[in-house]
Amino acid sequence: MLFDTLRRPLRDLRVSVTDRCNFRCAYCMPRDVFDRNHVFLPREQILTFEEIERLVTVFTGLGVEKIRLTGGEPLLRHGIAELVERIASVERITDVAMTTNGSTLARHAAALADAGLDRVTVSLDAVDDARFRHAADIDFPVARVLEGIDEAKRVGLSPVKINTVVRKGLNEDALVDIAGMFRGTGHIVRFIEFMDVGSSNAWDLSEVVSAAEILSTIGAKWPLDPVEPNYPGEVVNRWRYRDGAGEIGVIASVTMPFCGECTRLRLSADGSIYTCLFAYAGTDLRDALREGATDTQIAEIVTDVWEARTDRYSEERVGVPIGLPKVEMSYIGG
Ligand code: SAM
Ligand code: SF4
Ligand code: SF4
Repeated sequence: MLFDTLRRPLRDLRVSVTDRCNFRCAYCMPRDVFDRNHVFLPREQILTFEEIERLVTVFTGLGVEKIRLTGGEPLLRHGIAELVERIASVERITDVAMTTNGSTLARHAAALADAGLDRVTVSLDAVDDARFRHAADIDFPVARVLEGIDEAKRVGLSPVKINTVVRKGLNEDALVDIAGMFRGTGHIVRFIEFMDVGSSNAWDLSEVVSAAEILSTIGAKWPLDPVEPNYPGEVVNRWRYRDGAGEIGVIASVTMPFCGECTRLRLSADGSIYTCLFAYAGTDLRDALREGATDTQIAEIVTDVWEARTDRYSEERVGVPIGLPKVEMSYIGG
């Protein structure tokens, strides 16, 4: 097992399979930045499924057991179920999950489950069309995302987790509606504080709705009790409805950072690894892969990166050199 300078082990890997997305959530891919002139990664720079599978296998030798596929929008990647199947069959991988905007989940869920996907998280910031349209900055019916969630449940990808980013002026007045939609369904809504990832979302602390505010809004309608974490170091803070209608979570990366528990590595669609969501530089593995490096040589690069790791951005919020743009969320996938 690998440990970094703060004794954090490497356990899980997020794999971004594309930097493209059909939505334009303003906190992630604001339309004025990600417009038709934006240059996305050319196909030849994107890792093939074989390359991803090989890297996943190398990572398992270093302690990785859990994989989450993300993007951009992972369901836009052609043949994604085949990638799930390849990853799920890697020895020592115990859990394969995906984070998606759910826009085409109804169509893909059965194939993903058959391919070995264990769990799915669907991002959803509103449950009414007007707010949803505003949040995703696209004319798309929220009902299609809800159908995707139903289908995921039907094929056994449950409990489905729903990720809701809470941002002032966007949806802070809709939290009860969102919680209410999923109470009693077995799905788990996780409310996420708006984070200062990337360099294009015009983040401002005044637009963060704290986990404490979120919990007091929902708790005022339906009283909540705290729940023990599923495992030590779980980043989600769990709460249960006192009336037995299920649970919710809050991810308080701004007001209660959890860097001490951060065991995640991120692999971008073009094959660079990043040790922090707020990084401004990564380490390329693709050239080594394509130039014939052995598994041992690739493992050495990763080992050097992880062992040198000092990141605790959310605990410091000062660590990024001024003028260096942080990497975008749509590129490393959260
Ligand atoms: N497109 C997929 C989706 O939206 O689920 C996967 C990629 S998306 C970058 C991964 C997660 O990051 C989503 O749940 C999204 O809500 C979250 N996210 C993006 N920008 C964020 C921000 N500025 N603050 C908090 N969460 C953010
Ligand atoms: Fe696309 Fe997901 Fe980013 Fe929204 S959060 S723009 S759905 S990548
Ligand atoms: Fe991990 Fe970086 Fe987030 Fe801290 S700020 S929890 S080190 S990704």
